[in-house]
Amino acid sequence: MTDNFDLIVIGGGSGGLAHAQRAAEYGIKAATIESGPLGGTCVNVGCVPKKIMWYSAHHAHQAEHARDFGFDLSLKGHDWSILKVKRDAYVKRLNGIYASNLDKREVAYIAGHGSFVDAHTVAVGGQNYTADNIVIATGGYPIVPDIPGANLGITSDGFFELGQRPQKVAVLGSGYIAVEFAGVLNGLDSDTSVLVRKDGVLRSFDPMVREELAKAMLQSGIALETGVVPQALEQRDDGIYVLAEDGRAVGGFDAVIWAVGRAPNVDSLNAEAAGIEMDARGFIPTDDFQKTNVDNIFALGDVTGRDALTPVAIAAGRRLADRLYNGMTDRRLEYHTIPTVVFSHPPIGTVGMTEDEARAEHGDSVRIYETRFNPMMYAFSETKVQTAMKLIVVGDDERVIGCHLIGDGVDEMLQGFAVAIRMGATKQHFDDTVAIHPTSSEELVTLR
Ligand code: FAD
Ligand code: NDP
Repeated sequence: MTDNFDLIVIGGGSGGLAHAQRAAEYGIKAATIESGPLGGTCVNVGCVPKKIMWYSAHHAHQAEHARDFGFDLSLKGHDWSILKVKRDAYVKRLNGIYASNLDKREVAYIAGHGSFVDAHTVAVGGQNYTADNIVIATGGYPIVPDIPGANLGITSDGFFELGQRPQKVAVLGSGYIAVEFAGVLNGLDSDTSVLVRKDGVLRSFDPMVREELAKAMLQSGIALETGVVPQALEQRDDGIYVLAEDGRAVGGFDAVIWAVGRAPNVDSLNAEAAGIEMDARGFIPTDDFQKTNVDNIFALGDVTGRDALTPVAIAAGRRLADRLYNGMTDRRLEYHTIPTVVFSHPPIGTVGMTEDEARAEHGDSVRIYETRFNPMMYAFSETKVQTAMKLIVVGDDERVIGCHLIGDGVDEMLQGFAVAIRMGATKQHFDDTVAIHPTSSEELVTLR
């Protein structure tokens, strides 16, 4: 194998693979360096295994509600270990597919840890590789706070290693992972607590979805404790305790999961050797075209500190290849109106500005359309999980600048509406679209 390439990508995750493959399709001689399994966070310890766990809890809920529709069902429990074996095999299959995709496109796969020697050279296991362009797509890793006993807790990576379901579990944190894991564990019958250090979960989201999710979590049996600033974890006879700044000790847990954000994978990248600048937290800033402060070095995905989502990393990677190697000089990812789904129970879908952001930017020209209702799937259920929807519009033409949804099915509902909103849809366009009946999504085109 030659050690000289047109392009070296460090990191074989969502963004790195997308970039290297697109570049190779344009005839570029590309190499991908990956220190772990191919596919990165999303495939191995992120979106994919998480969604499998989400489906598992979802099926548990569906089975519960099937009884209301006349089924004589008795559930004999759930075998976490069987699910894990199947899930791991599924992920392994994907690793193989990623390897063969690289092969098909003749992208060289260099297994090992890459670190910069200079702006055109990366070393892997004692061998130097050179390239005209280098792309950093090294992603991130879960943060564990530096407090006594912190290692008694596990991270999202450890969650996917669990061979058995912990019976009493605490999730520390308030973001995506905290609410998603809590939904899974609770759905599969663990006694689940979410401990947040401030006043609730998902604080950067629209207040309507935050409020509805908190309600749904409580209703489903998840304990939500606010104001718990963790100061230490302690092993006691009856389990792990979280000691909080205000003196509270919450505990007796079989497992404690840290879900307090992620840090960039730059620690042993030796980026300084290439003169690459990083911010105070280690993220690598780029311009609008993914270029770092060094002309031939680019960064994309989680390591840049922007929207940490798989399709964002992929889109940035593909667009960068289109621009560098296919003459599309203005091609770049615009980091706005990015739709996202939180796979909580029920799921949340959101795109565009929250109400607070819209009012701060557009003041009185903002108008809100909102609805809350019980979906028909709960027609015969005693416990109903509400759906809530909010459209935020601005100006005389009522252009839609925000759409926030929570409820069953919204995870699959949002993508199409995101297209419309990106195209500049107005409330009138929504109103003029004939509803599909009977669905939950029709509520979005009949808001008054
Ligand atoms: P990564 O996918 O993290 O890939 C980086 C790769 O670089 C890794 O494989 C790593 O081993 C490798 N690497 C690092 N340093 C080096 C080095 N020096 N040399 C060689 N290789 C190196 N996003 C969604 O859109 N939807 C979801 O449902 C979703 N769920 C998630 C659930 C969890 C639990 C987590 C943790 C994340 C989730 N995400 C989700 C986020 C998503 O996984 C990331 O945004 C995405 O993987 C980022 O892609 P990336 O290419 O930037 O980095
Ligand atoms: P998030 O950034 O979503 O949330 C972490 C939150 O934890 C912080 O916002 C903060 O909230 C709280 N926190 C931070 N430090 C501490 C601390 N020391 N003690 C207690 N709480 C703390 O991070 P996640 O780890 O949940 O996920 C990382 C990213 O991965 C997400 O932002 C998302 O981009 C991506 N992801 C996407 C998913 C999807 O698309 N469905 C699913 C999972 C992850 P506060 O200030 O309120 O305390």
